[in-house]
Amino acid sequence: MTKRKPIIVGNWKLHKNLSESLELATAIKNVLGGLSHVEAGVAPTFVALSSVAKRIEGSHLILAAQDCYHEDQGAFTGEISPPLLADVGCTHVIVGHSERRQFFGETDDSVNHKVRAVFRHGMTPILCIGEQLSEREAGQTFAVVERQLRGGLRQVPADQAGRMVLAYEPVWAIGTGKVATTGQAQEVHAFLRATLTDLYGEVAQSIRIQYGGSVKPDNIAGLMAQTDIDGALVGGASLKADSFVAILRNCG
Ligand code: PEP
Repeated sequence: MTKRKPIIVGNWKLHKNLSESLELATAIKNVLGGLSHVEAGVAPTFVALSSVAKRIEGSHLILAAQDCYHEDQGAFTGEISPPLLADVGCTHVIVGHSERRQFFGETDDSVNHKVRAVFRHGMTPILCIGEQLSEREAGQTFAVVERQLRGGLRQVPADQAGRMVLAYEPVWAIGTGKVATTGQAQEVHAFLRATLTDLYGEVAQSIRIQYGGSVKPDNIAGLMAQTDIDGALVGGASLKADSFVAILRNCG
């Protein structure tokens, strides 16, 4: 079976001003040299991306944006395009985060446009999917994540899909302190890999599937021990260097 290198990305959301962003990025960068078992990344706010990019230059720290628009340029006030993100040094873009779906009306269709735009500009999308609590309680988890996955990847060919990152984030576990049990997470991850296999065949074995939802230094090891969990998308615990670095250390 393909060995997948773990990938852990910190989603800073709407936190940290410029100097705080630089301080955190520097602290993470400074320990990365000793952590070759994992790929690590940070997703600062748009306005900090360029400065953080310069600060982490020469390190292996991945720079990710938290979102993008699908058009390259034009009369789209307030939007940021994939080529602009690539231009400042982003290699990854988080797409379809549940907060974007919940508060900003994103749909599987808009997410799919963004995924394709990110690939078009040579970057890697981190495609986020996950069910809400009411959907889990109604026994709809698999149907919901399958719809989000197939919808998000519509018209994405296998050669591109092979280098994507998928993030399974049960909405009820995000920022709530309620982490899914390792069994609950692995069950969905295995289902997602089976769906990816149906879509792309063997390529599915190389796709990294992150878990996201209240990941902390003390629960990452149990999650990473699961066959189909290949890393984490981390919110709250990525805002402090100590806890993020502890997650990186404990993940392999
Ligand atoms: C997230 O927002 O992607 C996330 C997983 O947040 P938290 O780790 O705070 O639950």
